[in-house]
Amino acid sequence: MNIAITAHDAKKELMTQFCIAYCGILSRHKLFATGTTGKLVSDATGLEINCFLSGAQGGDQQIGALIACNEIDMLLIFGDPLSAKENEPNPYGLLRLCDVHNVPVATNIATAEALIHSLERGDLDWRDIVNPK
Ligand code: PGA
Repeated sequence: MNIAITAHDAKKELMTQFCIAYCGILSRHKLFATGTTGKLVSDATGLEINCFLSGAQGGDQQIGALIACNEIDMLLIFGDPLSAKENEPNPYGLLRLCDVHNVPVATNIATAEALIHSLERGDLDWRDIVNPK
């Protein structure tokens, strides 16, 4: 499966801790991330991550392009609803694309844990049937 990861600044540490905790599962999948999030997670976990541009430079749009092409099977996007800044990427475009393409998406760690366990159980294998790569 192809998994995309991005986190706003206030949630990058949480995303990193999540990826450390689930490194074993994540290592069996192909990972994509916005630039800064990807570098932080990769440095902390040793996971191989295809890093796009930083979010501010269009990395979230690059993830969006892959979602639009049915190349992403799961999106983990940790935003910070309490301190979202105007210059930070707006996640709603990505959420809309996930709805259009039926991509499982988690916007907080509780849902991310549920999705990662579903992934491990094989509950998301239908994506390989619907979107063969
Ligand atoms: P980043 O992009 O991982 O490059 O910081 C995400 C964001 O800006 O929210």
